[in-house]
Amino acid sequence: MVEIVQNGDKVLRKISKEVPISSIAKPKIQKILADMKTALNTQYDGVAIAAPQIGVSLRIFVVSGRIFDEDFISGKGPSQLDTQKKKRAPSMVFINPILKKISKDKKLMTEGCLSVRPLYGKVRRATRATVEAYNENGKKFTKDASGLLAHIFQHESDHLDGILFIDKAKDLQEIFVE
Ligand code: ZN
Repeated sequence: MVEIVQNGDKVLRKISKEVPISSIAKPKIQKILADMKTALNTQYDGVAIAAPQIGVSLRIFVVSGRIFDEDFISGKGPSQLDTQKKKRAPSMVFINPILKKISKDKKLMTEGCLSVRPLYGKVRRATRATVEAYNENGKKFTKDASGLLAHIFQHESDHLDGILFIDKAKDLQEIFVE
């Protein structure tokens, strides 16, 4: 069982270290990636996770394939999805991610965080963002995003710099979901 670190733990406030590219293929990093995916999959509403959230201070985040599922985005509910056992898009790994471009155009969106339960709040972020990173095979790639994924890129990049969404959010409130 991989535990998700909660707000108050110092690891969430540290600046994470870069992963040496030559070590990406090694068992230690591959195990961390597997643990991150496992932790993310245990969270019915999880869309992404950063390494510090499992106690590892390295510059890595993983985005769940769930976000490419229209039912999930439209709010029809993940439980329904899970029972349907629909084929889900694979999760995406971002190692040493760098936000290369973010749009001037910004939008308030409601956010939560697996490490800041049960708070939700609205954060103003760029509507489009481009990330350059390495994948799990050590290959460099660039990914453009808009909407939810662009928002996620910024939330997760913040994690790697010790920033939590509650530092920036407005209208914070506790929301308990069954
Ligand atoms: Zn988070």
